[in-house]
Amino acid sequence: MLDVLTQKIHDEARQGEAYAPFINDPTQYKKRFYIESYGCQMNFSDSEIVASILNGTGYGATRNYEEADLVFLNTCSIREKAEQTVRKRLTEFRKIKQARPGLLVGVLGCMAERLKSKFLEEEQLVDIVVGPDAYRSLPALIEEAEGGQKAVNVLLSREETYADISPVRLNSNGVSAFVSIMRGCNNMCTFCVVPFTRGRERSRDAASIIKECKDLFDRGYREVTLLGQNVDSYYFTPETGNGEPGNLSEAVTFARLLEEVAKISPLLRVRFSTSHPKDITDDVLHVMARHNNICKYIHLPVQSGSSRILQMMNRTYTREWYMAKIDRIREIIPGCGISSDIISGFCTETEEDHQDTLSLMEYSRYDLSYMFFYSERPGTLAQRRYKDDVPESVKKRRLQEVVDLQNRLSRESNERDLGKTFEVLIEGDSKKSGEDWMGRTSQNKVIVFSKQGNTCQKGNYVHVQVTDCTKATLLGEVV
Ligand code: SF4
Repeated sequence: MLDVLTQKIHDEARQGEAYAPFINDPTQYKKRFYIESYGCQMNFSDSEIVASILNGTGYGATRNYEEADLVFLNTCSIREKAEQTVRKRLTEFRKIKQARPGLLVGVLGCMAERLKSKFLEEEQLVDIVVGPDAYRSLPALIEEAEGGQKAVNVLLSREETYADISPVRLNSNGVSAFVSIMRGCNNMCTFCVVPFTRGRERSRDAASIIKECKDLFDRGYREVTLLGQNVDSYYFTPETGNGEPGNLSEAVTFARLLEEVAKISPLLRVRFSTSHPKDITDDVLHVMARHNNICKYIHLPVQSGSSRILQMMNRTYTREWYMAKIDRIREIIPGCGISSDIISGFCTETEEDHQDTLSLMEYSRYDLSYMFFYSERPGTLAQRRYKDDVPESVKKRRLQEVVDLQNRLSRESNERDLGKTFEVLIEGDSKKSGEDWMGRTSQNKVIVFSKQGNTCQKGNYVHVQVTDCTKATLLGEVV
């Protein structure tokens, strides 16, 4: 399931402030591209790969689509609403294209992969359709479109990881960066489109990941988040040793990779997302416990608290097994922050199943969750096997109960931190006021504190004592 950051980024995208990239030096490039990204962090990370490929094709980035020669929407398909958002956005570009017929419009990402060339029939203004594994073909596709042809490449790959392409950091705060370590997913959860839009799992060359994290650290970044639809199933077998730093001769598991990245510097914080519960091993937990700079936070999507529904979702674990995993995490990493994803109203869900979800949330005491009601997706196993039979009004009522419970759990979690002191990495100004810094604790909690009376800078680590809180934010002062 899309992870934590997904929702956060969704929210930001929904606020109409879709992420337009930093601007390249206008003199360097004759042509300009504008890219808007939607959905999960993998999509945002992919947009950074796309920006690098386009820079290599003579296109510089602009934040202003009015001056762009080429506009790309990097799309999401996880829920019907995500696709509606893209279609609505395309109607706005239709007007611009009518005024500037030479403008090229392209769609990337999961919706492009799901619809393929049908996208061209449904959205006439679209010139280019490219799936998540075909971004290397962009230069040729753009040439075709510049020649007046419609251009499509939606081939999925079993090898492609873009390991050799250095992402162009878009919209970066210069402190934290995402590093994609694997692509695709083999889990086949019945409600999910990802295996169909992003293909089979493949892990990226471990040496290239470590090199990218080192480069980021040398460039002043102080946090990396290792990304994948299911990072814990990362498994890389190097064909040959190459003498490069990080020459790893035997197979690299996720626990091993995490440790290698943590060893780069104790000043480099390491996070990862997303974990499938079945793949989070004791090895990973012990590596996390051994390294201070590996953040004590795990996003562990559960989706439902009912074992019957979990089986229909093909999640491969039961409620009891999942609760034991929560216990194991807290046993090996006391105080570890845990968040989750919940789907309300999945096919045949009864009131009793719903109560199972509420009681499991109560048991897990999540700091935070991403909560949705079930949205049937075309082509998924659930769509083929089950009737979407829970009325929308019931889905919404149950979702509201899940949200209300989570709001209480989040507040209680923050109240438990009152008076405690945390090491915080400063990411920048707080959204609300330039007088305050914003940063996060190792447990991934946002904390805001005044700039008054301290000489801290962005990218610094600082100790902050919690003096107050809301359900979403800790408030504190430097000690
Ligand atoms: S198939 Fe399951 S594990 Fe894979 S991305 Fe979808 S929800 Fe996540």
